[in-house]
Amino acid sequence: MHTDPDCLFCKIVAGQIPSKKVYEDEDVLAFHDIHPWAPVHFLIIPKTHIATMADVTPAEQALMGKMMILAPQLMAQLGVTGGFRQIINTGRDGGQEVYHLHMHVIGGPRPWAKG
Ligand code: 5GP
Ligand code: ZN
Repeated sequence: MHTDPDCLFCKIVAGQIPSKKVYEDEDVLAFHDIHPWAPVHFLIIPKTHIATMADVTPAEQALMGKMMILAPQLMAQLGVTGGFRQIINTGRDGGQEVYHLHMHVIGGPRPWAKG
């Protein structure tokens, strides 16, 4: 497993910075976003330090699949039944601010939506 001592999310993985955990195993960590965009907003990250989606190699294919299919499981556990979004921002023009790969998982009631 790779760790970057200057990386915010590596510090969260190491427990040096607290987080509100949703799920954890040997490969991945899910925790609530500190500035949620919606009623439910958590991040799924690999525990190993991968800076961006552009740095992922075929060796991480299973890890990426695990993150992808974990999202609906965790949303179901959190009682979100109306749907959600999974978003990965990559690089400067992708709006990425934290350079440790993370998937935003965003859902919950949308009071502003019609119907
Ligand atoms: P990005 O723009 O890189 O895709 O998103 C980074 C996300 O990380 C943002 O939604 C931001 O609110 C979240 N974030 C930044 N610092 C922290 C932190 O210390 N703790 C948690 N839980 N989330 C953070
Ligand atoms: Zn990191």
